[in-house]
Parts: sequence; structure tokens; C-alpha cells
Amino acid sequence: MSTPQFAYLNGQIVPWNDAKVHIFAPVAKYGLGVFEGMRGYWNEEAQQLYLFRVAEHLQRYAFSQKAMRFDQGPSSEELSKALVQLCHANSFSTDVHIRMMAFIESGELDATGPIGTAITAVPRETDRQVADGASVQISSWVRMPDNVMPARIKCNANYHNSRLALIQAQRDGYDATFLLNSRGKLAEASAMCVFIVRDGQLITPSVTNDILESITRQTVIELAREYLGLETVERDVDRTELILAQEVLYCGTAAEIAPVISIDRMVVGSGQPGAITQQLIEIYGAIATGKNDAHVSWRTPVF
Ligand code: PMP
Repeated sequence: MSTPQFAYLNGQIVPWNDAKVHIFAPVAKYGLGVFEGMRGYWNEEAQQLYLFRVAEHLQRYAFSQKAMRFDQGPSSEELSKALVQLCHANSFSTDVHIRMMAFIESGELDATGPIGTAITAVPRETDRQVADGASVQISSWVRMPDNVMPARIKCNANYHNSRLALIQAQRDGYDATFLLNSRGKLAEASAMCVFIVRDGQLITPSVTNDILESITRQTVIELAREYLGLETVERDVDRTELILAQEVLYCGTAAEIAPVISIDRMVVGSGQPGAITQQLIEIYGAIATGKNDAHVSWRTPVF
């Protein structure tokens, strides 16, 4: 990866290679950090970089810190200014992926602060590889329940669970992995939430199924209602419903919306990306890039 010029560390824009923490820091020793992944979309016509749903990301970021008993860090206003400042400094004219992390820099396992802030933004295209449809494995790993690790937030350590499932799927030749929860119901993918379409109904696991409370999931629910007239049913989803469904899709900030065409090598629906999935991909892309100017509050312009 070619690295951008600047990163953000503790209130300052710094050269990329100077954004460092010590190996003895609790964030290195125990993964004592929480983070957000965000996207920025370059709109060539407007010569503008739009950051997508910043307010919602910062709200979840604050909750992640509360759930992990972190001390108060910088305010949301300060952080949203820092995001814009960093993208500005790097003069991006491409789509970007942004990672913002609150971390504990010194102390032991029981340290609750002081809170460090790191932000990186790197050019990133959407993964078009799966645009034709992803093959998914149901993992033999189980999504950790919320009374083991807070599943609905983004703390660094949660990602060991996602990583093991993802590597298993990749080694077995699949594009992606779906994890069931400890009750045997569908939870989510390694970094994406899942929707199915059954008999015209859009269905997704409810937020009490050990899923991350995903912003893209919420966006899909809102756009499906608004543009397709579809009310999403939030409920438990059984694993065999995945192969009964006419369409399956996964969604997340990085992955956006992607069709799933097989589960455990069993064909989903027609084996092609479904009509509802394709419409959602189109609407989502248009709104996120600002080509459709609805939902103006979802886009933060950088320039
Ligand atoms: N689940 C997990 C575990 C994730 O890391 C992500 C990516 N943040 C998602 C789901 C999708 O969440 P979002 O739409 O907020 O990016």
C-alpha cells in the first residue's frame, strides 16, 4: 500500500511514519482500543470529498468507549474537525477509508485513560471483486455473545473472533464468512451485516443477535423503506433460511452492499445478484457519493 503523507495523532497532523505508540502501551499489549471505520467518496463533478454518516460514526465511537469504561476523550466536534483537517492535509481526490481509534497509551490492564486519538485516511476503492456475487461459508467459529465481549461495539479485541472466521473461510476458498451466534441463529459476517429476501420481504437479524450495531445496516433499512417501499423485518434468522432465500446480501462501511450467490456451496436464488440487492447497491452508491442529493446531512464535505 502506498501511504498517504499525513496521519493524525493526539491533536496534531503528523507525518505518516511519525504516528507511533510504544510496544508497552496497553493498546499493543491487550488491544485496549476502540475504533470506527468510515468512508469518504470523491465526487468528480463537484470536486468534493464527502465523508459518509460522520455523526452516526462518532455517536457509536462514544458509546464504544463508554462500554469499554474508557475515560472521556476529545469531543465529537473536535473529532469531526480533525477528520476534515486530515483529509484536507492529504489533498485526497479519490475514495478513502478512514480509521479513527481511541486507545490507552500507558498503564496496566485496568487503566481507563488517558485516551489517545489516532486517525488514518487511505485511498480505497470498493472491492469490485464481489460485485458479481460472493461465495460464503458458515463459520465453525461462533460470534462472541454480548455477555462475553460487547458485540454491538467496535473494540479492537472483538476482531480476533472475526479474523479467525475470515481466515478459515479464505483458506477454504470462500469470499466471506457468516457467523452464527451462541443460540445458533445468524449473527453477521466478519465485518458486515446480513440481509435476506424471502418472498419479497427484507429480513435482517435484530440487534439482540450479537451483531455490531451497523450504520450501513441502518442505512439499508432506511433506503429500502424510502426507495423500494420495503419495511425490513428485524428478527432471528435460521441458517437454513439463507439457502431458502431468493436473495442474500451483506453490507458494511468498507464492503458497502454486496450480493451473495452461494452459501456453503449451495446456490442462493437464481445464482445471480438479485433485483432488490442491485437496486439497493445503486441507491446507496448514489447517496453516498452525493450524485443523489437526498439525505444531505449524511454527507460531510471536506473541501
Ligand atoms: N460487523 C462488524 C463486526 C464490523 O466490523 C462492521 C464494520 N464496521 C460491520 C458489521 C458493519 O458496520 P458498519 O455498517 O457500521 O460499517
